[in-house]
Amino acid sequence: MPLEEINYSQIKELIASAENILITSHHNPDGDALGSALALYNLFIVENRNVEVMLPNAFPGFLKWMRNSDKVLLYNKHKRKCDKIIAEADLIFCLDYNALDRIGDMTESLTNSKATKIMIDHHPEPGKGFDFVLSVVDTSSTAELVYDFIDKIGLLHKVNKNIAECIYAGIMTDTGSFSYACNYERTFQITAELISLGVDVENIHRLVYDTYSENRMRLLGFCLSERLVVLEKYRTAYIYLSKDDLDKFNYQVGDTEGVVNYALAIKNITFAALITLRKGHVRISFRSKGDFSVNDFARKHFEGGGHKNAAGGNCYLPMEEARKKFETLLCEYPELLEQK
Ligand code: MN
Repeated sequence: MPLEEINYSQIKELIASAENILITSHHNPDGDALGSALALYNLFIVENRNVEVMLPNAFPGFLKWMRNSDKVLLYNKHKRKCDKIIAEADLIFCLDYNALDRIGDMTESLTNSKATKIMIDHHPEPGKGFDFVLSVVDTSSTAELVYDFIDKIGLLHKVNKNIAECIYAGIMTDTGSFSYACNYERTFQITAELISLGVDVENIHRLVYDTYSENRMRLLGFCLSERLVVLEKYRTAYIYLSKDDLDKFNYQVGDTEGVVNYALAIKNITFAALITLRKGHVRISFRSKGDFSVNDFARKHFEGGGHKNAAGGNCYLPMEEARKKFETLLCEYPELLEQK
């Protein structure tokens, strides 16, 4: 449902009457997940509301600068406390995810919760279980939608620099620093408004991107020199990392963030993947250029999904077999073949 069709007076009443507001986002939170969640959390803090912010698991360290990131409750760390908060909430915001199975171990508690659930999201094909669905696929990020949502509920004048920074970080990270998913005037109008609220674009970029540990930088070098496979015929390139590889570079959450984009940056490559072994199973990130839908690919073959040009999936085979499965699937997609 486009934002315009939402009954905002009803939502305003819900917010006004809510006693315990809870803000949530998806498993393996990224900049948009955390930025959207903290933007709304910080707004309700300014409003002196009873509000909590909760994520299924930890977010990368390069996002810790966001205001009140230390207030984020991690479900996998404090399950009992979090379950109590979920049960007591009467209004739950579901940000940057559109299905209740995208929130890891939080799924059961959230599904059972009687609270009114408001989804604000930009992934295709929204699922069921939400009372209000604010879903816009053609937008840069959930953070951008959160900005418009704040406007629609009449609280834009409460957006301060801290809140603006959270929204900006969401837009910046979900567009790869304004390089994809941002062919929208609105994205840049909002960005301009955020700058007028005090966002220092250069500083935020440094805080998010110039924070590599030596290990992370060397892992990137290793990925490119030792673990990159280019399948020219299918205009596909992928990088794979075993557990030993990750251990060798003392892998920390977030260290492989963005690595897949290097495979996609090769000339003529339109489909890229990063295949890593995580917690006993193979996790794959997919990226594409143009019309090839990695969302469809991930949904169909790897129990995953996401956006048309950026998605993720899982595979429960050993690494070698997972790679083979991926490579074998390519021949089912004649659109990948090199254009003669
Ligand atoms: Mn997003």
